[in-house]
Amino acid sequence: MKRAICLILTCLLLCGCGAKDTTFNRTLFCMDTMMDFRIWGSDSTNAANKMADMLEAMEEDWSASSDTSLLAALNDGTADLTQEQAELIAQVEALSVRTGGAFDPRLYAVTELWGFPTDDFHVPTQEEIDAALLERRWDLGAALKGYAGERCVQIMERYDVERALLDLGGNIQTYGSKPDGSPWNIGIRSPFDSGTIGTLSITGTMSIVTSGDYQRYFELDGQRYYHILDPKTGRPADSGLSSVTVVCEDGLTADALSTALFVMGLEEGTRFYQESDDFEAVFILTTGEVYATEGLTLTGCEFQVISHEN
Ligand code: ADP
Ligand code: MG
Repeated sequence: MKRAICLILTCLLLCGCGAKDTTFNRTLFCMDTMMDFRIWGSDSTNAANKMADMLEAMEEDWSASSDTSLLAALNDGTADLTQEQAELIAQVEALSVRTGGAFDPRLYAVTELWGFPTDDFHVPTQEEIDAALLERRWDLGAALKGYAGERCVQIMERYDVERALLDLGGNIQTYGSKPDGSPWNIGIRSPFDSGTIGTLSITGTMSIVTSGDYQRYFELDGQRYYHILDPKTGRPADSGLSSVTVVCEDGLTADALSTALFVMGLEEGTRFYQESDDFEAVFILTTGEVYATEGLTLTGCEFQVISHEN
């Protein structure tokens, strides 16, 4: 029996930032991933400390695996949420409705059944899956890092940060602009090897989030089982995609949509894009073909353009 686990800590590679003008760099391990901050500004150290504290508190509150977290209380119906926390849950629920349930923040029992949180992998029976789908236990794993990026932006605004490039475990949050007005260059990781498939030019404050079949998976009898589940089946989403990258001003939306579009696949994802006006996306098919929506500047690869008009 062949088993392998691959947890890629960084799914987007950062490029194009000379170290010369970096004023502050910080790395931390949080939310089960490595995070890397590059911050320019006079009060960068305090901003970074504040962001690290906020991220650690957020991880504790919203831990799906802990019996004592706020999320555990939410499962039990005993949670006493602050206004901010209640707003987060309301936004998450709205994103689930908006995506027709493709983004489903209450699949933790199913995720656990497959063994993803503990690396104790198991291919469940349909009976087991059906029972786990009914549990409806909360899991913000597909959205929390994006929301965290948004909260980091609020902190950086308070600390007069000039500009920053944050890598929250593959979720990229840009902040501000380079003094010469040139864009941030964000490499999109190839799902097939350790290189990049192309580079996005990003202007200003933006969230760039990727969901991929290579981020967390195990293999059994030649089949790859990965951590993004189709809520309709309780099995890894089999949509013909290897990754989806979403670019959106709102971090939470970017993160939830990257997972949802991965579940939907190219065709349904294209329709969803055409009905929306708040994000852009890059779809990489399992065949290696690349599709990018018309509002993006993507260089370094061949791709087909998805336009807003049908
Ligand atoms: P990552 O967190 O690895 O960057 P995603 O943002 O796509 O990738 O989130 C995947 C995680 O979200 C899974 O590990 C699981 O906890 C949870 N999840 C899996 N499938 C779904 C789904 N369809 N909707 C919402 N959450 C999901
Ligand atoms: Mg996501």
